[in-house]
Amino acid sequence: AADKIETIVRLAKARGIVFPSSEIYGGSRAAYDYGPLGVELKENIKRQWWQAMVRGREDVVGLDSSVILAREVWEASGHVKEFTDPLTECLSCHKRYRADHLEEAYEAKHKHAPEHGLADVNCPNCGVKGQFTEPKQFNGMLTTHLGAVADGSGLHYLRPETAQGIFVSYKNVLESSRRKIPFGIGQIGKSFRNEITPGNFIFRTREFEQMEMEFFVRPGEDEKWHEYWIQERFDWYTGLGVSAENLRLYEHPKEKLSHYSKRTVDIEYRFQFGGNEFGELEGIANRTDFDLTTHSKASGQDLSYFDQPNNERFTPFVIEPAAGVNRAMLAFLLDAYVEEEALSAAGKMEKRAVLKLDRRLAPIKVAVLPLSRNTDLSPKAKELANNLRRNWNVDFDDAQGIGRRYRRHDEIGTPFCVTVDFDTLEDNAVTVRERDTMHQERVSLDQVETYLATRLPG
Ligand code: ATP
Repeated sequence: AADKIETIVRLAKARGIVFPSSEIYGGSRAAYDYGPLGVELKENIKRQWWQAMVRGREDVVGLDSSVILAREVWEASGHVKEFTDPLTECLSCHKRYRADHLEEAYEAKHKHAPEHGLADVNCPNCGVKGQFTEPKQFNGMLTTHLGAVADGSGLHYLRPETAQGIFVSYKNVLESSRRKIPFGIGQIGKSFRNEITPGNFIFRTREFEQMEMEFFVRPGEDEKWHEYWIQERFDWYTGLGVSAENLRLYEHPKEKLSHYSKRTVDIEYRFQFGGNEFGELEGIANRTDFDLTTHSKASGQDLSYFDQPNNERFTPFVIEPAAGVNRAMLAFLLDAYVEEEALSAAGKMEKRAVLKLDRRLAPIKVAVLPLSRNTDLSPKAKELANNLRRNWNVDFDDAQGIGRRYRRHDEIGTPFCVTVDFDTLEDNAVTVRERDTMHQERVSLDQVETYLATRLPG
């Protein structure tokens, strides 16, 4: 639970997965950098999403749109007016909160909503009850100024979602790729939100990455496709090893739906942050024809679709599975981490920490380990590592005892350790050890690559 998050935060820092950004200057609040292993893990998550959602499907194509779009886009989409959070401040300690988050935390703890709103809620920081300012709407978009003019005319927004970039390029994509409805456009990229209370490690930051897909369908078929995508997305997480017991679907109550949505279902993960058992991993929304209609009106461009076989014109409805790369990464890490008892090389029972990540996600696929640092073994192991590096992210490690090195690689989820020992010099074979079972197998050097290739799916 809570201590598992702490373990992951510690592991992430110690092993170069995630660490606080600008740390030598005391750190930038709630911004994180992804280290050598983190960038690999993040890339692997994105690659799996892209394969499942874009490249592996005949009905979806990809896009990479700008972070800074024309200002009119955000006026038409409703973000300038509606992309707000209710900001409140504790009168006693002056800490600021999202009012809805305070009420949700209260509800999670007491199993019912606060009867008198914020008047019933204690400040999580100083404990004083009910001393909150009247919530004020606070816009969550980050702004910047383009061009060499200081009068505000250069005001632009950093995108708070990648979706609008898809809607404004919808016509270009549709025509250039000659798609027919139903079809989708997928995109992965950074988004920015001026979150009032960033926190819970990489769960909520002001700069983050999204993986979004807008799926355009015929009105009337939207509900069926919505169900389809909820199921697909749930299966994506379980297919990559997240335990179904730690996931749940959350149906947004009608009165709390976003301004564009007819129905939204979130996939939640059992993050177990302060009081809340579950937290949002991904939202799957039925955005109706809201976006294409508003952009048609505001831009004066006809974004309707002509369905030739039926000789019919309509504005497509849109189903949107919107996932966060960073939250997915945190869920994969939490779900994969186990501590178990295992027999050490010396025959003793020891605690072993293992990151049982799906092999497709593991940042390092193979570790090549000479049994000891030795003038005969090391060159042989280095040569093997260099050969394997053509296909995979490979680590060569000859520091400390072999048992310690196995543990080090278990802890970061390396699926295979290949050990070069003195017998190797005689029989041209190595020992391959599998992470989860710790099963060891002798494999001849000229077969190692094939052995690994059949066990490491792309
Ligand atoms: P929340 O209610 O937690 O603020 P949201 O409902 O506003 O999230 P969406 O607009 O549905 O989030 O965005 C889609 C996905 O983008 C989220 O499910 C999440 O994975 C990711 N995401 C959104 N905001 C952040 C953030 N500040 N930090 C990290 N990931 C985020």
